[in-house]
Amino acid sequence: MSSAAAYAVSAPDGAFEKVTIERRELGPHDILINVAYAGICHSDIHTARNEWGGAKYPCVPGHEIAGTVAAIGTAVTKHAVGDRVGVGCMVNSCGVCASCLADQEQYCLRGATMTYNTAVDPEVQAEGHTMGGYSTQVVVTEDFVLAIPEGIGLDVAAPLLCAGITLFSPLRHWGAGPGKKVAIIGMGGLGHVGVKIAAAMGAEVTVLSHSLSKQEDGRRFGAQHYYATSDKQTFRELRGRFDLILNTVSADLPIDSYMRLLGLDGTLVILGLPENPLSVRSFTVAGFRRSLAGSMIGGIAETQEMLNFCAQHGIGAEIELISADEIDSAYERVVASDVRYRFVIDAATI
Ligand code: NAP
Ligand code: ZN
Repeated sequence: MSSAAAYAVSAPDGAFEKVTIERRELGPHDILINVAYAGICHSDIHTARNEWGGAKYPCVPGHEIAGTVAAIGTAVTKHAVGDRVGVGCMVNSCGVCASCLADQEQYCLRGATMTYNTAVDPEVQAEGHTMGGYSTQVVVTEDFVLAIPEGIGLDVAAPLLCAGITLFSPLRHWGAGPGKKVAIIGMGGLGHVGVKIAAAMGAEVTVLSHSLSKQEDGRRFGAQHYYATSDKQTFRELRGRFDLILNTVSADLPIDSYMRLLGLDGTLVILGLPENPLSVRSFTVAGFRRSLAGSMIGGIAETQEMLNFCAQHGIGAEIELISADEIDSAYERVVASDVRYRFVIDAATI
């Protein structure tokens, strides 16, 4: 066991406090990572505030982790001391189910071990729950540690470990590329990276944001079109327009109105995860043979592919670097959609 400093909340309405946590001793395949940066994802807020239920306290969120390898177990072959590495939303999975064998560990049939707030794998440690990247160090088995290519700064790479892969995976799966009209609802942490990636894939990208206030940024990130969803005319003008719509919004939306923006065989993918059920008219889905789908992050191999793609295309997140004592105010600003476009904690301040 080794000790690490971390920031934790101990109740849904609690404030973040500095704590000391234990990291497990290195097993043969384990890697000890010195965390340099940790992104703040809206999922951290849903979890810390127990909006999804089942939160475990003390809760140390953080699944957008970038840093360097400090030490390796005796059997590690994938990374060496000093390597630039990242960890995303998962730190383990069963490795033998159909999903894991298909490189889709996020859909592990036993349930993947998430980076925080999951019961620790009983084979690894008897009790407790996982604690994430708002911390100076993490220990992760080598198969779940990604290589961060040279050419992307660790600070702007950190958000790619969740936001990047969450958009990359559905964009690839539903064939975003030249000739495809892709819309992204919400230009926050997930959305802005999605605009960059979809544009780099060659798709025609439209942002559907609740106002036009970020329009210039959206175009700079690669969007050809930008519409305000607060304007009813948007829904009349864009009816039947898109092949693919990715919904990244963290709050309830009238999904039915957005589904009608899909053309023949179009797909709307749910990525944002507000706690309430969706409501969609059967006629809206049946008409134009539309699909309503969802997607969760991406597998480890695909996450590495995404990082390589981003390095090749010069894509990183747009970030606002904060110190650890600013986490509470950063959460308030994320909830108020006042983030440009991802808060990243400088782990040196923990
Ligand atoms: P974020 O930075 O807060 O971005 C969400 C964006 O949604 C905001 O910037 C805003 O964009 C829009 N929005 C927020 N409240 C709204 C409202 N009341 N009405 C209309 N639009 C609103 O959050 P994020 O980190 O990108 O995460 C977004 C969601 O995805 C969260 O629910 C998170 O838990 C989920 N998530 C899912 C996965 C997955 O694997 N499926 C992975 C990571 C996160 P505009 O200002 O442009 O309208
Ligand atoms: Zn996330």
